[in-house]
Parts: sequence; C-alpha cells; structure tokens
Amino acid sequence: MPETTLEVTPALLIPPHLVGQIQSKLAYVDEAIAAARVAESGDRITLALRAAGREGEIEAKVQRVVQEMAQGGIAPRVEILEDHLDRPVSYAADPLAELLARREVYEESTGIFTFGPLMSRLIEYFESRFLELAAHFDAQPYRFPTLMSAEFLDRVDYFRAFPHSLTFATHLREDLDIINQFAEKAKYEGRGLNAPAEFFSQVQALLSPAVCYHLYFSLADHPLPDGQLIATSVGTCFRYESTNLTSLERLWNFTMREVIFVGSKDFVLEHRERSRQFMQAIFEELGLAYRVETANDPFFVGEFRKQAAFQTAFQLKYEIRARLPFKDSTLAIGSYNYHQDFFGRHLGITLPDGKPIHTGCTAFGLERVAYAFLAQHGFDPAAWPVAVREALV
Ligand code: 5GP
Ligand code: ZN
Repeated sequence: MPETTLEVTPALLIPPHLVGQIQSKLAYVDEAIAAARVAESGDRITLALRAAGREGEIEAKVQRVVQEMAQGGIAPRVEILEDHLDRPVSYAADPLAELLARREVYEESTGIFTFGPLMSRLIEYFESRFLELAAHFDAQPYRFPTLMSAEFLDRVDYFRAFPHSLTFATHLREDLDIINQFAEKAKYEGRGLNAPAEFFSQVQALLSPAVCYHLYFSLADHPLPDGQLIATSVGTCFRYESTNLTSLERLWNFTMREVIFVGSKDFVLEHRERSRQFMQAIFEELGLAYRVETANDPFFVGEFRKQAAFQTAFQLKYEIRARLPFKDSTLAIGSYNYHQDFFGRHLGITLPDGKPIHTGCTAFGLERVAYAFLAQHGFDPAAWPVAVREALV
C-alpha cells in the first residue's frame, strides 16, 4: 500500500488532557488516514496516509477537529477517589506477544479476537468476582440481546453523541432477484464484500454498544413499579474503533458485566459509591495496581466539548484505570457511572411521584481486566496473587 507522511501543525496548541482524545478521533477524519499521532507537546500531528495527493483537504479536516475539540476548553480538574498505582507488580512486558505465541489469542479480523483457555479461565474467574458485587446488592439477573433497537437508540440521542463507533446490523432486502444475485456473485474483495449498498435493508437494529441501555428500554413509557431496581447482566458490546484497533486494549467486539441501579438520585448515587467501596477490597485481593479517577465518554467531535465538560463538572463518570507497566500508562478496565435522569426523561420512566427516574451503572470490561492482570502479573502462576492462583491452578 503506498504510504506518505503528512505533518500538521495544529492552529491551536492541543492541551495535554486532549492529546489522547484528539488522536483517537483523527482515525475517523478521512479514509486515507492509516495512522495518526499527536505529539505529547500538543504542537504536532503526524499522519500516515494510504495515498498521496489530497494532503490539503485532509489537513483542513484535521484542523477542524482540533478547532472544535480544543477551542476555549478548560482543563478538567481530575478528581482521584482511589490511588493504588504503586501496588507491586511482577511483570514488565506486553502480554500480547506471549499470548499470540501461545495461540491464546487469535485475531480473526481487525479488532475481532478469539481467546483460548488461559484468557477464558481468567475472564471467568474475574466475572465470578464481579458477580459477588451483584449478589451483595441482590441484583436481579437479566439476559439482553446482542442486537439493539435503532428506534430506541434514536430516542436516547445516541446517534448524535457516538456516531463514529456505531456498528449497524443489516440484511438483504426481501427481493428474489437481489437475493439470487447476491448468492451468485457475493465475494470478499479488497477490504470487504462486493455487494452493492442498495442490496441491503434499512437499518432497524445495531450491535449493542452498551449493556444497561437494554434495561432502560425495557422500562420505557411506564412508572417503575417499586420506584427502584438493581439489575445485572453480561453482554457483548461493539464499538467500532477504526485504526485505533491495534491491540487487545481496544476491541471492536468486547464483553461487559454491568450492575445497574435505577431509582431516585440518592439511591443511585449511594449504590454507585457502595459498589466502588465493595470493589476496592476485591481489586486488592486480585493484586491490581490501579486508580479511580474522573473521566468522560468519547463523544464525537461536535458534541465533545459541551458533553465532556458537563460529565466532568457533575462527576458523572469515574474510571477504574489499571496500570500497564510495559508502556507506563493506564487502561480503563471499568467505570462507575451516573446518568442523572437522562434515561428517565428520554424514555418516560417515572418514579411513584411522577418525576423521571435516575440511573447509574458499574461496568467492567472483561477482556481488558484479564489483559491488565497479565500485563501486571505475567504468565507464571507462582508469581500471581494468592486468590487468583488458588482459583485457577
Ligand atoms: P464505558 O461504558 O465506561 O465506556 O465502558 C465500560 C468498560 O468497557 C470500559 O471501562 C472498558 O473496560 C470496556 N471497554 C470500553 N470500550 C472498549 C474497547 O474498545 N475495547 C475493550 N476491550 N474494552 C472496552
Ligand atoms: Zn451502563
């Protein structure tokens, strides 16, 4: 593939807190961009392009992203609720190389991984620990579909906030000629199927980007009978990450366990905090080095500034960020979220007094927990924290 490099000097200096956010958004700016890097200093952007010739146009689009995301932004005050980053770890390499060498992970396609016995056992064990949290709250079990209604996602404004990471589910239109033509000619060519777009149906469903939304949709347009509910479910989630899909840190297809709180503001906030305290003891047993700090969701460019500032100002999201010793950085393995009455208002779910309900959730990304554990404690069970060794060996 012909490649050329484009260096862009951003018209605005990119502040440190936006370096990562802007870098990840550059993947979606133009199909010619194969990789993007924003210098830590925020004064240089380096793009690897698949082809030369459209540099001016691409640079203009990049400048628009910088402008919209960075202009007038003030650095959020990061609040740290727990800091255990200095907990001792015994491994210093990237576990991915070893996992690939052992055939423990296999990349079926970009961002789509299969996992072997070690990763599966680790994930199952961590799941069992998250289920302790669910049991502690007597959370009711739910099973949700992998497909999610486009109509409901529209009702909660998802398309405006996260258009870039959507994954659409479609099917062939009900038409004998189309289905026959597809059956005869369909081939995987270049970077995808050769079938024309007009063969496919309109989109009624997407692959779920989150778990808890399904619960809120199921409660829509009714008062919540007892005024409160605690639920738990595990599900496969999909977030298209384009060229950011380069390792086990980001998967197109990943698994989330959630404990979900629905009720009054005080009920939700109190349970979010109690779940953090409960998990603190479990993460200690797992020997995880991490911290819990304020965060925001990866809103797309146009919505980013307003929404991210709002989330931070109202302390709506805290991430559990595990240390990755091999690259001296951290990775979100879970989050404690409060949505205020957003879902209650958009979906017409009410408390006994008629006011919209509040919601929140505690969510764990299972593949990331296993990956972060191996990054910190490696492959020799003798070096693992006792609880994990006893459960798995
Ligand atoms: P959140 O709802 O906070 O965005 O996601 C909850 C958790 O799901 C994250 O803390 C993370 O562990 C996991 N997660 C989110 N996006 C991805 C992703 O692209 N890949 C993987 N492997 N996990 C993710
Ligand atoms: Zn959730």
